[in-house]
Amino acid sequence: MSSSPIYLDYNATTPVDVRVLETMLPYFSQHFGNASSRTHSFGWIAEQAITDAREKIAHLINAEAQEIIFTSGSTEAINLALKGVFSAYHLKGKHIITAKTEHKTVLDTCVALKGLGAEITYLDVDREGIIDPESLKKNIRPDTILVAIMLANNETGTIQDIANLSEITHANNSIFFCDTTQAFGKMKVDVQELGIDMCCISAHKIYGPKGAGALFVRRKNPRVTLISQMHGGGHERGLRSGTLNVPGIVGLGSAAEFAANEWWDNAQKLSTWRTKFEWKLTALENVFVNGSIRNRLPNTCNVSIGGIKADTLIAKLPLLAFSTGSACTSALPEPSHVLKAMGLSESEAYSSIRISLGKDSTDDEVLHAANEICNQIEKLRS
Ligand code: PLP
Repeated sequence: MSSSPIYLDYNATTPVDVRVLETMLPYFSQHFGNASSRTHSFGWIAEQAITDAREKIAHLINAEAQEIIFTSGSTEAINLALKGVFSAYHLKGKHIITAKTEHKTVLDTCVALKGLGAEITYLDVDREGIIDPESLKKNIRPDTILVAIMLANNETGTIQDIANLSEITHANNSIFFCDTTQAFGKMKVDVQELGIDMCCISAHKIYGPKGAGALFVRRKNPRVTLISQMHGGGHERGLRSGTLNVPGIVGLGSAAEFAANEWWDNAQKLSTWRTKFEWKLTALENVFVNGSIRNRLPNTCNVSIGGIKADTLIAKLPLLAFSTGSACTSALPEPSHVLKAMGLSESEAYSSIRISLGKDSTDDEVLHAANEICNQIEKLRS
């Protein structure tokens, strides 16, 4: 094994696939037009590229092209979805339901909305991170305007029963938002089958560029109304003003296409390696897997290692790039809110690591990482 670091943090971000990069390159210096320039061919070429990407993404999630709004990523898409719905529907009701294990983007946006008068209910999860649909039934109210629950968790990979949760939401005439950032490209995402009214995609999680993403907003059955959170030139049907990031959107479109066509093969390979990795680690005493055993993303592995702080382990293994909990929150010296919501103690949460594999991972790398981690655990425990 070489002495270059092994990347095991694909849920944090992914490298740009060279095939994706190639589709983007002409749109930097050659076809550099502004997609809103209606009076010349530079603008028309850029606009055509945007239209193609929009149609591709819509087709991949079983939506209509007019239902796709381009954003800078999932954080912006989530802000637009949640704040946009609250602005549009706050006279109908001010109640929003989400889950304790959502990504910080959803949780922090809910805190911001609370400051504007929203009432937020946070659903509990069980030890595997799963929401009991009965708890949604119990908590949903006539003034619930929105339910926001993710498809797959970024820290544990746990997958929720979205079709069931969205059905309960619709029976109450509420809107269902689903954070599909981690799920898209790792499993099938069909907004009709899952009953999703709004969802988001981020290019840098699917081997596309950073700074490009999309929000799906349903236009019929039900038609979702959003109030724009960004004002300016009226781009994206007035919902997201700002000159479109043409190379980024082209990259998002091609990355989404590769991801949707290739996820199945990658999933088979990655889940086999993940199983081997987990067998090795859990053969040690007091090491256990966090997340759902049956309903989990194929690439994600979160384990707690009794008696060892994740930070200490990571510092001892500089050639392995993995994380403690979520990358977006790992700057904060707090135990993972996801693991705590699943019932882990503070010390169990502090001793948890997340390994997330990707399509460029190899069998050798995974085996080597498992051996290195196991050896280090034994050394630290001795
Ligand atoms: N939602 C989930 C589940 C995520 O994992 C992330 C990023 O880690 C985000 C939202 C934010 O995505 P972005 O980096 O595109 O803003």
